[in-house]
Amino acid sequence: MNLNTNQIKLHSILDLCTNLNRADVLRLDLIHPIVSGNKWFKLKYQIEEAIALKHSTIATFGGAFSNHIVATAFACKVVGINSIGYIRGEEQKSLSHTLQQAVEFGMQLKFLNRTDYNHKEKIKLSENKFYWIEEGGYSILGAKGASEILQQVDTKEYSHILCSCGTGTMIAGLITGALPHQKSIGFSALKGNSDLEQNVLKIIPDTCKKKSFEIIHDYHFGGYAKHPKELLKFMNIIYNKTQLPTDIVYTSKLIYGVIDLCNQNYFSKESRLLIIHSGGLQGNLSLPKGTLSF
Ligand SMILES: *Cc1c(COP(=O)(O)O)cnc(C)c1O
Repeated sequence: MNLNTNQIKLHSILDLCTNLNRADVLRLDLIHPIVSGNKWFKLKYQIEEAIALKHSTIATFGGAFSNHIVATAFACKVVGINSIGYIRGEEQKSLSHTLQQAVEFGMQLKFLNRTDYNHKEKIKLSENKFYWIEEGGYSILGAKGASEILQQVDTKEYSHILCSCGTGTMIAGLITGALPHQKSIGFSALKGNSDLEQNVLKIIPDTCKKKSFEIIHDYHFGGYAKHPKELLKFMNIIYNKTQLPTDIVYTSKLIYGVIDLCNQNYFSKESRLLIIHSGGLQGNLSLPKGTLSF
């Protein structure tokens, strides 16, 4: 499976960041309008393994607005493998945009109430003919794929690599791929996810476990997928000033956090930031029309 990686480019937001030398956003969102940039990278080796092991079906888990679900549906369609998405929560009268897209890409949906969803391991055991991908693509292979994000442009001059975190798979890959002088900083999109650091360490190679990284838990805006008016307003301001589109779940909170840390002089003046835009823009379709100016 090949990515449309020639679309990826850098987008400076230095105007928004005080006291810095450089602040570039790596636009993985440009790979595809629906399939999130980081999801392609995380799925790559898992899908290759499913094919090598001759599985005809890939199954995975996610919520009704999950970027991972739609990306898995699309990637499976591209390589010609069946896909099944186990969706958290009862089936609603109308499908979310995300799930409609997944169905259009050929994914079969199965809805699980929250109790069953919390017993994922049981479902995996009973359906052991499928190749299973964890929720959010969390795995060693997912992190290995994400490490290739840093091969898309020349990254050696950056001092910090910053990204949003859900499961922590992407930052695990970034830590793995970072150079010795670089620090990776993750902004958790979940509230109080105290397991995140440990989950990151579990999927990086032993030789990388001492590399410099930090997870910041202060910019979740009330919790996962919560998007108060203040955040939506911020997204419009950022777009109007720099033409950078962000999503309501991950990248808007990341950019907000980065700018806030700059204002607090968290970074030294010589710092050169590489901020990963991990995509997710399809999630904005869940907002009422006209909420965002892009
Ligand atoms: C899934 C997702 C993330 C979180 O990635 P993890 O590897 O789960 O930490 C961040 N940004 C976007 C846009 C995503 O879709």
